Amino acid sequence: MVNIKAKLRGAKFAGLCLGISLSIGCATAESPARYAEDAATGSPPHGLIIHGGAGAGSRATISRALEADMRRAMAEALAAGFGVLDQGGTSLDAVTAAILILEDAPGFNAGKGAVFNAVGSHELDASIMDGATLNAGAAAGISTVRNPILLARAVMDHSPHVILSGSGAEEFAREQRLRTVTPDYFDTERRRRQLEQRLARDSQASMAPGSGDAPSAQTGDSYFGTVGVVALDKAGNLAAGTSTGGMTAKRYGRIGDSPVIGAGTYANNKSCGVSSTGHGEYFIRHVVAYSICARMEHGGMTLQDAADEVVMEELVEAGGSGGVVAMDAKGNIAWPFNSSSMVRAHQSRDQAPRVLIFRSK
Ligand code: ASP
Repeated sequence: MVNIKAKLRGAKFAGLCLGISLSIGCATAESPARYAEDAATGSPPHGLIIHGGAGAGSRATISRALEADMRRAMAEALAAGFGVLDQGGTSLDAVTAAILILEDAPGFNAGKGAVFNAVGSHELDASIMDGATLNAGAAAGISTVRNPILLARAVMDHSPHVILSGSGAEEFAREQRLRTVTPDYFDTERRRRQLEQRLARDSQASMAPGSGDAPSAQTGDSYFGTVGVVALDKAGNLAAGTSTGGMTAKRYGRIGDSPVIGAGTYANNKSCGVSSTGHGEYFIRHVVAYSICARMEHGGMTLQDAADEVVMEELVEAGGSGGVVAMDAKGNIAWPFNSSSMVRAHQSRDQAPRVLIFRSK
């Protein structure tokens, strides 16, 4: 059983050094026999796929500095997660290690750098799922836990529940001795400007004749930067996880798809692992992550066809913008997005690390 306290200390170093006993999920002590066959047969397929959010718009709307920061953090997350897998660690630990790095990187809408809600505070959501057991954990509406993915993991590993929310989740985090922060830890100037612009736009729209009080439609920059990872380990187990601040100017108390198992995150060794990003209400209504896996398991579709059908047809018809990263139990990947861009990265036994943001690059 992985110890969360040890994980907190060790996770940051997971990509660099997995041989130490404190690190997360090293295969060395846990299951030497399982990996002994690698030497004879060659390493089994393993790898991970990451998204850093969909919908930022074109090159013109992302500054060069932000683009460079995002690419750097994605490469770091890829190295950390792949390091776990390459050393024989579990897919759950790879997902956790990669998301931890992105939650601490202020360019993303997860952990530090999360978007503001309509009342100027932060409510973070995260989830994680184990494709071998279908165990899952999630946290919603969190404002004082530095790394929501660790809370999701603790809910899965150390509680009988799947989702904890709000103050109850925060109390559980303290019991689990997870690192807490004051809510302003998550603040960044860039996100504050986004909130001000959004509120100004909404108030102009509500003053227009015939508009009532309805807020304007969410555009891509409202949620850009959510993070999610799917990993396949050498033992053939899939895991998926997602972490977000939600959508800029969301109503206080709103919960998106990211902590909803089946919508924002799903993993099942029989089919695939998926992490979603985009306008969460649509991803919940269309149960996007599970729906892709179900098409594979029950409809015999390939991962690519299943993911394309849900993201590029069903969601497009409904008006839901965003994308997914997905991986099946053989290590095949798909990363369709119907938004203008999606930050994404992949590395596997057979594929060198690559980070992309726009359609082709
Ligand atoms: N899906 C997230 C939400 O609606 C936002 C995102 O993926 O960027 O909360």
